[in-house]
Amino acid sequence: QTYLDRIARLNPDINAYITVAPEKSLAQAKAADARIAAGQTTALTGIPLAQKDIFCAQGWRTTCGSKMLDNFVSPYDATVIERLNTAGAVILGKTNMDEFAMGSSNETSYFGAVKNPWDRDRVSGGSSGGSAAAVAARLAPAATATDTGGSIRQPAALCGLTGLKPTYGVVSRYGMIAYASSLDQGGPMARSAEDCALLLDAMAGFDPRDSTSLERPADDYLRDLERPLAGLRIGLPKEFFGEGCDAAVMASIEAAIAEYRKLGAETVEVSLPNMKLSVPAYYVIAPAEASSNLSRYDGVRYGYRAPEYADLNDMYAKTRAQGFGDEVKRRILIGTYVLSHGYYDAYYLQAQRIRRLIADDFRTAFKQCDVIMGPTSPTTAFKLGEKIDDPVQMYLFDIFTLGVNLAGLPGMSVPCGLVDGLPVGLQLIGDYFSEARLLNVAHRYQ
Ligand code: GLN
Repeated sequence: QTYLDRIARLNPDINAYITVAPEKSLAQAKAADARIAAGQTTALTGIPLAQKDIFCAQGWRTTCGSKMLDNFVSPYDATVIERLNTAGAVILGKTNMDEFAMGSSNETSYFGAVKNPWDRDRVSGGSSGGSAAAVAARLAPAATATDTGGSIRQPAALCGLTGLKPTYGVVSRYGMIAYASSLDQGGPMARSAEDCALLLDAMAGFDPRDSTSLERPADDYLRDLERPLAGLRIGLPKEFFGEGCDAAVMASIEAAIAEYRKLGAETVEVSLPNMKLSVPAYYVIAPAEASSNLSRYDGVRYGYRAPEYADLNDMYAKTRAQGFGDEVKRRILIGTYVLSHGYYDAYYLQAQRIRRLIADDFRTAFKQCDVIMGPTSPTTAFKLGEKIDDPVQMYLFDIFTLGVNLAGLPGMSVPCGLVDGLPVGLQLIGDYFSEARLLNVAHRYQ
């Protein structure tokens, strides 16, 4: 009730939530009380959580930030929702996001931009900007989010939070509305690495309903939290420390690394020579997959349908013209273009080759170090409206986060100070399945 009251008071301005349904949340909370009284508790029993509106939740409106799904009430739970509900967590509401998770500032949402609680003239980051603003404004203690090219790490950085994008395949994508299926991965966003570990423990695990879910024994993400960092080898890619990052942000990153040296870590220079190609490769592959995934929104089975049309083709055309926003249309056009006959080899296949090179760069780097560190984003939160008319500038803002998704690796963002009163995020990148180690490295610093 305390959180619901705070949401009622602050959300009209911050716009972190698209949907709240107090009666549903309170009913779940009462059920959690009963479980506690019966002694059937987990670490998450009764903990209220903000759920990104990309996760289908039974009986909840699930919009994915789009007019296309404005009227969609999900008939089933995503695996992530089901697991958190089973652990006894309470859904506080569904959070705002860029339309179909396409964006870096939460300004492409059909439901309006989210304001950064640290400075309400600035963006909260994207695409999980609603989840980040909700936790930063204390409208939820923790949240779920998804990361296709940085959407957990970047909003966490811009709002002063800890966020973790797991290894591809660790968290089920079942019921998580698809953007770019080979890159999409759900994960937690919270105030600390320890809280992220508690959430990930409940969220992760094999799911036969997701064909890319990995069948491996459950990890214990809390196991290593207190492990000393003596001897930890930190790789510093020279491409992260050259041009392209704001000097004051870089000073905060350097200060954090100095702190790690005091904790017993050593640093080694590594190289990710193909990193600069991650922006063009990602912005070919992600739109290609999106153009295929979004073909399901045709006005026939669910979601928006244009009210007036002449025939079936006209219904498809008008539904999609009216239901999708500009950025989504741009991605569908780019995606169908790079997949079309005559361009497929030149763009799509070439991007896939670059993807392999980027994964190989990380493989080489992890022979020399245990964890890679650098900035999450090149600047602190920018002003609302500053980049929205310049898609290339917006895409370039993702330079430090995209490689992790192309390679399928786990990555985190950890708060590491303020520049002019705005939070800076330190990015940690680990080898496949090193989530427990990353959480440990983040926790010891916090
Ligand atoms: N900013 C990137 C994009 O627009 C990443 C978004 C995401 O991770 N969902 O595609």
